[in-house]
Amino acid sequence: MDYAPPVIDPFGRGITYLRVSVTDRCDLRCVYCMAEDMIFLPKADILSLEELDRVCGAFVRLGVRKLRLTGGEPLVRRDVLSLFRSLGARLGHGLDELTLTTNGTQLARHAAALAAAGVRRVNVSLDTLDPATFAGITRWGRIDRTLEGIFAAKAAGLAVKINAVALQGVNEHEFDAMLAWCGEHGFDLCLIETMPMGEIEPDRVEQYLPLSLVRARLRERWTLSPTNYQTGGPARYFDVAETGRRIGFITPMTHTFCESCNRVRLTCTGTLYMCLGQDDAADLRRVVRARPDDAGLEHAIRDAIARKPKGHDFVIDRRERRASVARHMSVTGG
Ligand code: SAM
Repeated sequence: MDYAPPVIDPFGRGITYLRVSVTDRCDLRCVYCMAEDMIFLPKADILSLEELDRVCGAFVRLGVRKLRLTGGEPLVRRDVLSLFRSLGARLGHGLDELTLTTNGTQLARHAAALAAAGVRRVNVSLDTLDPATFAGITRWGRIDRTLEGIFAAKAAGLAVKINAVALQGVNEHEFDAMLAWCGEHGFDLCLIETMPMGEIEPDRVEQYLPLSLVRARLRERWTLSPTNYQTGGPARYFDVAETGRRIGFITPMTHTFCESCNRVRLTCTGTLYMCLGQDDAADLRRVVRARPDDAGLEHAIRDAIARKPKGHDFVIDRRERRASVARHMSVTGG
């Protein structure tokens, strides 16, 4: 198959990256991500693995070159490896990269099969190296399972990037240690600002830590030089001279990354969000289930991309305490 030119949005951005939340369920309850008593979706609302493959196939035909499966926790979905295998068969046939974001708890079991399916890189969320802090952030997680998953991924030949959400007063004193640990094991580190998505019990104003501040503090100890390295996502990367690895910063709050946005996001119910921080969406499940051929699906995708907004309007401050978008990150897929 020839590589299709991407569909272009109203602001001239080619859409080459689809993030797919394959389930809203997760085996952890990170305090900035989910409420403790989340109500999950009924099975009938969720696209089957075959339907997800079909929708992804339509996106690849329309020029998407990179697919990231996320969630919820993608590896808790039953038989998700069969989806990785069917999507992996598209690599080199329109698709350049198949990857995932995971909390790592199930990675030890699946790392080798993911590599065999064509996955080359994995993002693992790990906000702290301290077992007690990890249990506190995730509400009940055990850090050793995630660490085991990370090292299984490395052993399977996958490049590992560690994602950490920067949380004021929780992990802010750990970034030096995390950068050193990542350097020691050959991982890149990416820090993320917390985004106001979905109602949660803790106060986001108390959680929010601007990464401009974190970067300035890191510079007191590390030599960070800007690089053009890109993974197709929103992070801005710096080389870390002392470790030979990179650190990335995802800064939706202090510096929006919208101008270069090449992404759209599909939820496990087949809802397509054109922006992480806006509510407009297209119901692709209805189209998929109405027609066996993909013409209507491709039409609906083009139609949705033609409505992609310029950017998000995230705000976290003491006057605006409500979430900027009502849905949690686990719905849209982080
Ligand atoms: N369960 C997988 C994991 O833990 O990576 C994938 C889904 S999780 C929603 C994806 C990423 O979104 C994680 O790195 C998580 O830390 C991040 N995340 C969740 N809620 C967030 C928020 N409100 N602001 C910023 N990042 C968030």
